[in-house]
Amino acid sequence: LPEQEAFDIEYWLLEEAKLQRMPKPKSLAGRVALVTGGAGGIGSATAERYLRDGACVVLADIDDAALADTAENLTSRYSADVVRTVNMNVTDETAVIAAFDKAAAEFGGVDILVSNAGIASSAPIEDTSLDLWNKNMDILSTGYFLVSREAFKVMNVQDMGGALVFVASKNGLAASPNASAYCTAKASEIHLARCLALEGAPKGIRVNVVNPDAVLKGSKIWSGDWLKERASTYGKDKEGLEEHYRQRSLLKRSVLPEDIAEAAYFLASDLSAKSTGNIINVDAGNVQSFTR
Ligand code: NAD
Repeated sequence: LPEQEAFDIEYWLLEEAKLQRMPKPKSLAGRVALVTGGAGGIGSATAERYLRDGACVVLADIDDAALADTAENLTSRYSADVVRTVNMNVTDETAVIAAFDKAAAEFGGVDILVSNAGIASSAPIEDTSLDLWNKNMDILSTGYFLVSREAFKVMNVQDMGGALVFVASKNGLAASPNASAYCTAKASEIHLARCLALEGAPKGIRVNVVNPDAVLKGSKIWSGDWLKERASTYGKDKEGLEEHYRQRSLLKRSVLPEDIAEAAYFLASDLSAKSTGNIINVDAGNVQSFTR
């Protein structure tokens, strides 16, 4: 054979061999995902990623107006048959149970829980009122517990396992100034995920964590108290903060809701069938993780 032709054949054989060995991406068709904070930046991007792969989604959130907007946006591109909304406060046990009941009534159960609903609200320790501390704990720590418990119950009944994806935070691993309540609550989410991974494994329930670094674009968190707090801590406006986070990343890129959604897709799908109790940091390579 002429040299080039031999090379081409060899290359083609190699590519074929790679294809045979590589796990094929599995579709989420027929799976039902309940996404808390589904009307927010990361929640809605994750719901959209799942819809793109054939899942049915239930968007659960306290913000009715944002739920309606998100549903309208999604159903302009995906069938209304596969999108539902429910008003649910993650701290309200009755509302959480009712949301899972709605998912069961509408779609027959829940295969994927994305526990993502959250706030970001913090202050220097001297200014952290008990109310502020409890608010962080209630929504981020207790809220993640309540939705996880209902997911376990429904996944057990289905007897086919499932996947829990926690959207926690890099702040659950690394301390951040003037944010003790938020950081502590986020750390508890990560530890809860590890405990549930242990409990879930014999039942075929996987529990994993996505840790976003700062996601300023599309996030409502970055328009309220948190923005003011971070702006005063770092002495920068929103654009300045975005640049600060970009510059401290190895890749010099901003993290977007869609980046978190891709990790949440991996952890919900069979692509991650052998992963549980693990964390994916989506932080464009936060320099601080390499230098401490
Ligand atoms: P977002 O504000 O855009 O979305 C959060 C959603 O949660 C909102 O729609 C809000 O209405 C909902 N929510 C708040 N309290 C609730 C409650 N008690 N019950 C039900 N729903 C409630 O924010 P986001 O950036 O999409 O954040 C999503 C998650 O990602 C949060 O847990 C947040 O802590 C985490 N996170 C965000 C960032 C970031 O920089 N944006 C970084 C790390 C982690």
